[in-house]
Amino acid sequence: MAMVRALVLERQHELALRDIDLPLEVGPGQVRIAIHTVGVCGSDVHYYTHGRIGPFVVNAPMVLGHEAAGTIVALGEGVTHLKVGDRVCMEPGIPDANSRASRLGMYNVDPAVTFWATPPIHGVLTAEVVHPANYTFKLPDNVSFAEGAMVEPFAVGMQAASKARIQPGDIAVVLGAGPIGTMVALAALAGGCARVIVADLAQPKLDIAAQYEGIIPVNIRTEKVADAVARLTDGWGADVVFECSGAPKAWETIMNLPRPGGAIVVVGLPVEPVAIDIAGASVKEVRIENVFRYAHQYDRAIALIASGKVNLKPLISETFAFEDAKTAFDRAVEARPSDVKLQIRVAQ
Ligand code: NAD
Ligand code: ZN
Repeated sequence: MAMVRALVLERQHELALRDIDLPLEVGPGQVRIAIHTVGVCGSDVHYYTHGRIGPFVVNAPMVLGHEAAGTIVALGEGVTHLKVGDRVCMEPGIPDANSRASRLGMYNVDPAVTFWATPPIHGVLTAEVVHPANYTFKLPDNVSFAEGAMVEPFAVGMQAASKARIQPGDIAVVLGAGPIGTMVALAALAGGCARVIVADLAQPKLDIAAQYEGIIPVNIRTEKVADAVARLTDGWGADVVFECSGAPKAWETIMNLPRPGGAIVVVGLPVEPVAIDIAGASVKEVRIENVFRYAHQYDRAIALIASGKVNLKPLISETFAFEDAKTAFDRAVEARPSDVKLQIRVAQ
């Protein structure tokens, strides 16, 4: 164990930037990483404001943060594909490699998975962490630490686009222009969609999404999404609908959006169970897909960013110094409509 400075959620509503004992010995197959940049995720903020997410309850002090990039500072035995000094980003989830889910290739839904900043597992808003090399990915020279810390939420978008089974030229709809919805839209465009309607009620978020070629913003305060879809598709419907708001209200009218035989990809997670119009889905044979984080997406996510086809930089609204980490969280709680992603720079 070693004493290191970290942003600790002591209990609901109480954050402290203080020293904490964390295990930093590097075992076989592991690497130690000096953290550079960490993104603030809605789930970190929810633990701060609510002290729990569903069955995961903060019962003991927990370091927050799971969207991270940094530099390798030590290698464990047997690690050959990384070296000290490599700039990297990390998958926050560690599955049991021998579990039935992992052997099926679905390591994201392994019931044994541990995930940074999901109680009782500490996150990475701290100077250094130890992580399996297999879940640590080298960043190309032209991908910054800030972009590296965006790979985690973008991987959710990649998983959604993969689950959608997009065909070249598809028309998609994304409900919700938060960081997840916007990155889902970018992954859908990179995956072959001709156009993506992005719907929200926060105009500043729509203005940010609208900077991207191919995204058509729709403010649901002034226009029905179904009308925008009908206009764009001659009344046929969208090939793919990505639900990324988590708002129960979105489910009330969602079946108006897909075309016959189209798909709904569920990314947003309502806090309470919601009613689904099963008959509406039936008459169109709507295919419904679910997304839980991601599996096998980091390599391709990084490749897209490095290629220049996906530019995530406009989504980073502000970067805070590590000393101001609490300020960053209070700013996230404010939920300014013009904020997409807030980041904390841990490295000096
Ligand atoms: P966010 O709160 O920043 O964004 C949600 C957006 O939806 C907001 O901009 C809000 O104005 C908008 N919105 C609210 N009601 C709407 C409606 N009826 N129609 C259209 N837009 C509406 O959240 P986020 O960080 O972008 O995450 C989005 C959702 O994805 C959350 O529910 C989150 O829990 C979930 N999530 C799921 C996974 C997964 O693995 N499935 C991973 C990360 C996040
Ligand atoms: Zn997250």
